[in-house]
Amino acid sequence: MTSRSQNPAGRPPGFVYRETKRGILRWGGQSILHCEDVSLPKLAAKYGTPLYVYSAAMIRERYDAFDAAFRDVPHAICYSVKANSNLSILRLLARKGCGFDVVSGGELERVLTADRKAAKKVVFSGVGKTREELSSALKAGIMLFNVESESELWALAECAGRLRSTAPVALRVNPDVAAKTHPYISTGLHKHKFGVPISEARALYAKASGARYLKVRGASVHIGSQITDVAPFGEAMARVADLVRELRADGHNIDYIDAGGGLGIAYEKPNPLEFSGYVATYARALAAPLRGLDVQLLLEPGRSIVGPAGVLLTSVIYRKENDGKRFLVVDAAMNDLIRPALYGAYHEIVSVTYGTDAATKSEVSDIVGPVCETGDFFARDRELPAVSEGDLLAILDAGAYGMVLASNYNTRPRAAEVLITGKSAKVIRRREKLQDLLRAEL
Ligand SMILES: *Cc1c(COP(=O)(O)O)cnc(C)c1O
Repeated sequence: MTSRSQNPAGRPPGFVYRETKRGILRWGGQSILHCEDVSLPKLAAKYGTPLYVYSAAMIRERYDAFDAAFRDVPHAICYSVKANSNLSILRLLARKGCGFDVVSGGELERVLTADRKAAKKVVFSGVGKTREELSSALKAGIMLFNVESESELWALAECAGRLRSTAPVALRVNPDVAAKTHPYISTGLHKHKFGVPISEARALYAKASGARYLKVRGASVHIGSQITDVAPFGEAMARVADLVRELRADGHNIDYIDAGGGLGIAYEKPNPLEFSGYVATYARALAAPLRGLDVQLLLEPGRSIVGPAGVLLTSVIYRKENDGKRFLVVDAAMNDLIRPALYGAYHEIVSVTYGTDAATKSEVSDIVGPVCETGDFFARDRELPAVSEGDLLAILDAGAYGMVLASNYNTRPRAAEVLITGKSAKVIRRREKLQDLLRAEL
């Protein structure tokens, strides 16, 4: 049997095992998980656990691969802030020339804080933008509003009129394309709350172009998240391309097609393709229906840029056994990473340190947090090399929809975040203190 202990699945190039040889006895060696050039046990000792650890090199590499895949198409990448909104990560991406997709006034404020000059590369999505949020975005001078209903269109016109400005508008259309993903993160069917039905779009564009303070600039679509089959993306794009031809025939000016985000990552088994090859198949699926259209393609990737670039580092507090069922109780919980509890999501979990001799036994256990909910688990019946109390585990692919969804449930302060660049580790969010939690209450 080849157990994981002999073949731990790191996430190169960001997360790799390095062997250390203790003394002169080769068989006493250990493999230790590193983020770039920094060992995870050292980070745990210095900053405590649970701890989010991100690789800057990996974020940059994935952004570059994404950008390169679309080099034959005029395009702009607007990173989806909701996947991971840490200011340092936004700043890192802004320095590479990346734009941003925001879904709230709060996210817009984060982008402006990270880089004032990024406003002109911001697209604003979401079904429930308030007048206050619309006005802030107009004042900031963002690139595009992805409007999702007729009511929102009139609210935007009203806000723009009051500010004597003109709002650049795209309608987010719902293409009625099924994306094979979890029902909670599928968005492109008419039964979902998102967008306007593609059949009603032309009539709404006619109204928009008649409004004095609105300027029609594009069409947008986003069919869901964690989609690993590229065919539905191509299908949605084909429907939007048809719509754009009709809109142009109606006399509208369409400069942008916003393809949304949603490209999935390999949580379970490593993708046989390098990311660059995988994102290239995605690029071909999107580009084919756009041939001859002469538009700028906007892309809103979130997860595919940051997901594999982060891990959640946690310590085993207790081992316990109930009637033969084994549990590892760790110090991270569903309040730190809710994906398994919310979507039944799979995350690879690895032992941070393991012996290089072949004798390491493996065990099957549930890996659970301390929160008082049965749903507070990271893995069920998972095989891992035997670990002791105090040992470290790394929950992989936690860079997207991890920290952004963290809460204070059970009055648990939120974890710290560390960004690694080569040998350097920088705390990009300090660990919350109990006083932080109590401050806003009477
Ligand atoms: C969530 C979201 C994205 C990003 O999705 P990923 O799956 O993280 O790539 C992009 N655009 C819109 C409108 C979204 O709601």
